[in-house]
Amino acid sequence: MIKVVCIGHNYAYEVKELLKLFYPPEEILISINDETVEAMVSIDEVIISSVNVIDEQIIVETEIQYNGKIEKIREVRNLMNCNVLHKRKVEKNLVKRGIFQLLEKVKKTYIPWGILIGIRPTKIVHELMEEGKPKEEILKILQEEYLIQQEKGQLLLSVAETEHPFIYPIDEDKISIYISIPFCPTRCIYCSFPSNPIKQWGHLKDDYVDALCKEIVETAKDFNHRGKIIETVYIGGGTPSTLNITQMEKLFNCLKDSFNLQTIKELTFEAGRPDTIDEEKLQFLLNNGVTRLSINPQSMNDCTLQTIGRNHSVEDIKKAYFLAEKVGFKNINMDLIIGLPGEDSSMVENTMKELLDLKPNNLTVHTLAVKKASQLKEEKESYRLEEEEEVIKMLKITQDYANKMGLKPYYMYRQKHMLGHLENIGFCKPGFEGIYNILIMEEKQTILAFGAGAVSKFVFPKENRLERVPNIKNLELYLERVDEMATRKKNYL
Ligand code: SF4
Repeated sequence: MIKVVCIGHNYAYEVKELLKLFYPPEEILISINDETVEAMVSIDEVIISSVNVIDEQIIVETEIQYNGKIEKIREVRNLMNCNVLHKRKVEKNLVKRGIFQLLEKVKKTYIPWGILIGIRPTKIVHELMEEGKPKEEILKILQEEYLIQQEKGQLLLSVAETEHPFIYPIDEDKISIYISIPFCPTRCIYCSFPSNPIKQWGHLKDDYVDALCKEIVETAKDFNHRGKIIETVYIGGGTPSTLNITQMEKLFNCLKDSFNLQTIKELTFEAGRPDTIDEEKLQFLLNNGVTRLSINPQSMNDCTLQTIGRNHSVEDIKKAYFLAEKVGFKNINMDLIIGLPGEDSSMVENTMKELLDLKPNNLTVHTLAVKKASQLKEEKESYRLEEEEEVIKMLKITQDYANKMGLKPYYMYRQKHMLGHLENIGFCKPGFEGIYNILIMEEKQTILAFGAGAVSKFVFPKENRLERVPNIKNLELYLERVDEMATRKKNYL
């Protein structure tokens, strides 16, 4: 167990998030200005983190006591002419740096992202680019200030450069739309999304599409006279391809009648599970303006597909992929997860070899995150998950194959509880970037979201402010309270 005593500051939340990289949450104790030794618990390490501000100087001292030894770090920064916000940011980073550097030494854990614990590390690079800093300086700041490894710094920089033209100049009149279809054939063991297995909940699909259309129509009434332009539409979930043709038709007609979709640059449709796809549906989607399709194998190993709770085979994935190509889709994304239960790096290599034959223009590689709402979290003991080193090897394999396939990283994000403290990366052939993915990650554009579990984001760039407006996740409650979902958004429009 570790105890951290914060003196002269109250960054307990940030400190706790950082400590989770080294300790399970239940082994972390944080106190403010209280160095009392706990009587009832056994503390292995104690850190004292103190901040002193003298004139324009911030002095941060960090001390760790472990195994009868003591180590210390002291950093001083002169912050003349800096505003309060900037001073606070520097102070917070210095506190995190002190703790990180001492723990890295004592615990000898591989933490490639340094003190960056947020989901969107590219945001920092965009900020530095906006300040006009050259590449070399940005890389130096990432390594020296945020203590991230060089290879991760280069990844961030290259992703931010690719994203830049899709985000800037910021235009408040452009928005995107997200539609949630929260049904799946079965629930995958790692899933924490709004997803309801068809067997139990499929009888509500018609009612759901009706409610969704109601929410769209009601919101559009208030939206359309505001002169906004729709840039991208993303239909995700769940598995939207669980809808039948009549339901899809209703949804697409409602969207076209409610919004002007003439201006959109991209319409993505997730047809994640091959057992929900047929030629008629694919043809319908192509005829109705879908430009980007996602078929998500997660793994190309039959035994893993069984383990994670899928009712289809690798052969089904290949058939669905070739069918989508035959119908005429040029931009097909495939999602993978590394670190799935029972998989080692040779199995990931097998997946990549299979994908090398398919040659998708888009590939998204996720690192498994054991999330609270998943079956995997509840039954973690029953599954074999690989150690950190093996997962790092897996990520490297996917990157090497992506390179062979001519794919470049174009967006990335991190999640809590990821194996190996790694990241998720979207790769694509140049010109096939998933624009919605970039926009949702960088949070520079308003996203109007519809359906159960969907979260709208209203962005106010001039105020550097973002408001999240979530819809109800529970399917039955959503159906009951759909009018309220439209009203919630209207309040922000
Ligand atoms: S397909 Fe996706 S949304 Fe559906 S259960 Fe699996 S992980 Fe969840």
